[in-house]
Amino acid sequence: MGSQSVLCPVCQGVVPATGKEAYTALRGRLILTNGYCAGGCAERRAEEQAQQQTQQMVRLEPAPAPAVPVQGPVRTPLRVVR
Ligand SMILES: [Zn+2]
Repeated sequence: MGSQSVLCPVCQGVVPATGKEAYTALRGRLILTNGYCAGGCAERRAEEQAQQQTQQMVRLEPAPAPAVPVQGPVRTPLRVVR
């Protein structure tokens, strides 16, 4: 377990300690130099990538069902034929 497990691979910040053994002098120094990781970086980046993919595929998604069912009377003009 080197400094890689301490640092966030995305923002290079120090990830929250997982245990008592995580509090090391190296970690303290990295907090001073890199700061803390806000957390959820990997998830956020994965979400952004997923959103970009879904935005590209949004046209393939089926259209949402209409709120009003299309079963009303057909609007035909009342025309009296003589
Ligand atoms: Zn991070």
